Formats: sequence, structure tokens, C-alpha cells
Amino acid sequence: MIVSLAPVESPGLAVVNAGELVTCEGRGSGDPLGVLEDAAFVVEGGRVSWVGTTKEFRRKSFSKPAKTLDVGGRLVLPGLVDPHTHLVFAGSREDELERKISGESYTSILKAGGGIQRTVRETRKATASRIVKESKERVRQLLRGGVTTVEVKTGYGQDLKGELKMLEAIRVLAKSVDVGIVPTFMGLHATPPEFASGGDYVRYAVREMLPEVARRASRPRFSDCFCETGVFSRDECSKYLKASAELGFSLKIHADEFDDSGGASLAAAACCVSADHLGRSSQEGISAMAKKRVTAVLLPGTSLYSGIGYADARGIIGHGCSVALGTDLSPNSWVESPQFVMSLACNAMKMSPAEALLGFTKHAAGALGRQDIGALRVGCSADFVVSSLPNYRFIPYRVGGDYVETVFRRGRMVFSAEASRDQA
Ligand SMILES: [Zn+2]
Repeated sequence: MIVSLAPVESPGLAVVNAGELVTCEGRGSGDPLGVLEDAAFVVEGGRVSWVGTTKEFRRKSFSKPAKTLDVGGRLVLPGLVDPHTHLVFAGSREDELERKISGESYTSILKAGGGIQRTVRETRKATASRIVKESKERVRQLLRGGVTTVEVKTGYGQDLKGELKMLEAIRVLAKSVDVGIVPTFMGLHATPPEFASGGDYVRYAVREMLPEVARRASRPRFSDCFCETGVFSRDECSKYLKASAELGFSLKIHADEFDDSGGASLAAAACCVSADHLGRSSQEGISAMAKKRVTAVLLPGTSLYSGIGYADARGIIGHGCSVALGTDLSPNSWVESPQFVMSLACNAMKMSPAEALLGFTKHAAGALGRQDIGALRVGCSADFVVSSLPNYRFIPYRVGGDYVETVFRRGRMVFSAEASRDQA
């Protein structure tokens, strides 16, 4: 018996015969994922109400659930959580991949009017309905890979009108997909060309955009900024985060992706929920983050696309930080596969398969300040994935095929590979 609970009345769904059930309720260093073999769990009202072995389930005296799902010995995981994306945008930048291959850097493309500024132009021009339509397809791809919750940032509007249009697109998107969407207002992403200086834009973001976004009924929980040499300074980000906190936002920060700009220590000082990228952060900054329990979100797909070094995952874990992983799905690094990111995390950053999976489940939930997702324990949302892979160690190992068979959110099936093949 692994998890005990009060007697269950009229459970709605029982999932039985999971060859391996990853609960993310770790039992020490020997079993950080809390893996149960020949496992079963019960779902009631969209939440997990009991977890144990199939044998224990058969012996249980509670009334049998209305439905039983026999997964025939397959691997079952919590629904994946992608804690860092910029998936709401218009257009694409595939030609910039060729420029980067030819030796141009991300920052030189940006200075020549490409990169973020190109996406800003395209996103400002596009209607909200076109943006929703294009973004919906990207959410569906994530769902096919097992993602049941995804964070989505604004940041391609870069003026009040454009940012409110992005927030509206995210709101409409959230109603039209079977994936939980967590919106983030990214007030400081880059300085748009109509502003003479970054400082002027920071003042505009703090005085004009933040208060207006905070007044909206559908205000996002998080506010985010890009702390980086040549983008926004530590001091500018500090002012922005302070203003965000005063308006009741929880905080996130893009920190030290290319250079050590003091972003990690600012994340700790400002009590951010997460600090993301951390490619060049100082030891002191990471240590301060660990003390303040700031989740580190690492984005190895972006390192690959931008041709920069990978974050020191082993060092960050060694400092005691919880490490989450994200796709950073954006027009710069158009990565829609969490499995690919987990493989990069293992092969390039030397994370273990268990650490990588915790990065897209329990720790990713932590990066969103959530305890009700990213695990299969009593009380959590019954978001889960049935996979054809033999065990969780195959996730970063056998990459490139379609191994997600079905995805459930709140106990309801939201994706079936078989049904989508039949439709095709
Ligand atoms: Zn980002």
C-alpha cells in the first residue's frame, strides 16, 4: 500500500494494470520518481482519489467505478507540464536558421531587424483570430507529446494595444484547446524600435502597460522580463519586477542566457517563482536562488538553436535548486517535443532520465507555483499519459517516433493516437 485515503464513494474511473506508474511522489534518492509497478489508480471528480497496486485495487471494498481502463501493462505518466513557451505569435523565421548556420549570432540578427523584432512586426499586423488559429496547431502538437498544461507568454506586442491583443488571443486559445493554459505577461522582452532607449521603454512598461494589464478581469498570474546584457539590465528588471509585485503579479525572469547579467541573484532577491535559461549564471546567484527556493527552468532546445553553451544542470542541481525543463517553443527555437528536450537534457546536460522527467512534471509544476498538477497523487488533477514505451528510461533514449497513445486531462480523454490516425 503506497497511498492511503478516505473511503471512495462512486469513483468515476479506475485505471488498472499500469506496468509502470510514475507518480512523481519520490521515495528518496533510490526512487526519485515514485515508480509503482503493476499499479492502479482511481479518478473521481477529475482528481486522483486513490493510488496503489492493481492487486490492492481488486481487493478494495469500495463500490466499483463506473468505468475501468485496463492499460495492459503500459507505462503511465503524469500529464507533462511545459513551463516556458512563447507559442502565441504570427509568422515564422525559418530563414534565420540558415543565417545562424552561416555564422550570424542571435544578437546580430536582432540588430539587423530580425529575430524578436520581426515577430513583433508580424504579430502586430496579424488579427487575433489568425494568431489563435496558428497557435492552436502548436498547442495540439504539444498535446500529442503528452503536455496537459502549458505556460504561454505575451511579449511580441511590445505596446499596450499589441500586448492586450496577445492576452486576448491567449484567453481565446485557452477556451478552444484541451490543454491547461497558464498566461504570463512579458512586459520586457525587447525594446521596440519606436523607443529611443531601453530605459524609456521600461518606464512605459511600468507606468502604462503593467497597471492596465493588472486591471483586466483575465489578468495573468505571472509577469516576466528578459535580464540580459544588451537587452534589459539588472537594475531595469529590478524596477519592473518590483512594480509587478506591487500590482500582485507572481514573478518570472529570463536570466543570464548569454552572459552573467546578475539575473539569478535578482531572481532570488525579488522572490521569483522561477528563473529561466541560466546559461551563464554565477555560483553565488544560483546559491541564492536555492536558498529562496526559486525553481530553475532550463531550456536546452534554445541552447541548441542559438548555438550557445548549455546550462550547468549538474551544478545547479548540486546547489539544491529544483530544475524544471521547458521547450521554449518560439519562432527562434520552434521545438514542440518535450521528449526531444528531455533527450537533450540527458545527453547534453547530463541530467538523469528521472531528473529530466521530474523537470517536465513535478518541477515544472513548481515553476508555475502549482501543486495540483505534474504528479499522480491523491488530490492531484487526473492528468495522465499512456505511453507505448516499455519504461520511463526509454523517454530520453528512443526519440523521434509517436509513443504517446492516449492523454487524459481531469480524467477525460483529450487525445488518442488511434483516433487521430483514423481521422487522417
Ligand atoms: Zn523565453
